[in-house]
Amino acid sequence: MTHCNILVVEDEDAIRAMLIMVLEQAGFSPIAAADAQEAQKALEEDLPDLILLDWMLPGISGVEWARRLKKEPMYRDIAIILLTARGEEEDKVRGLEIGADDYVTKPFSPKELVARIRAVLRRTGKLQGSTSIVLGDLTLDTEQHRLTVGDQQLEVSPTEFRLMHFFMTHPDKVYSRTQLLDQVWGRSVYIEERTIDVHIRRLRKILAEHNREELVQTVRGFGYRFSLID
Ligand code: CA
Repeated sequence: MTHCNILVVEDEDAIRAMLIMVLEQAGFSPIAAADAQEAQKALEEDLPDLILLDWMLPGISGVEWARRLKKEPMYRDIAIILLTARGEEEDKVRGLEIGADDYVTKPFSPKELVARIRAVLRRTGKLQGSTSIVLGDLTLDTEQHRLTVGDQQLEVSPTEFRLMHFFMTHPDKVYSRTQLLDQVWGRSVYIEERTIDVHIRRLRKILAEHNREELVQTVRGFGYRFSLID
């Protein structure tokens, strides 16, 4: 049993009821909200492990609410999966840009939805009993401090391990050097920005030994992105 709390925000009664049923059957503890206002109230009572958020909501849209949450230090780490009838690549990119962790297009099968939820929860370390973050064939074990590609172990320093931990829990998003410093090293530590480049270079070298150097991507003029997609 997982006992992860999932906040379901969907205005259509039938779909919301179906989602609640599917999540309960999968062993999750769902909380229902019909719009962003209700969802906000639910958040203030208890922080969920994940928000399943409909894109099209009356009043504040799902995307707009997600954007607001991602600006709040209290809420920004809550994983969000956007639900939408739109299947266009452009919308997907927009959803991921505002900080959603994944995107599920309606209609979807309950099995697919649960698998996507589990994947995001695993990646964000919210599945109980799981100390591993899995992304593609990469596994980062936070308890044993091991990073593996397939069955091969990568020799990374503690700093590079932290960097990989951050990257694997925040894939597909671009981070500036300053943001990486704040997130990985912490605000109180004084480190020059080029130190990040040194660690990135080492990380790439290690990944290159396993033909995975393309995972850490340079976004010219901005910073770095970790992505399984080229
Ligand atoms: Ca809707």
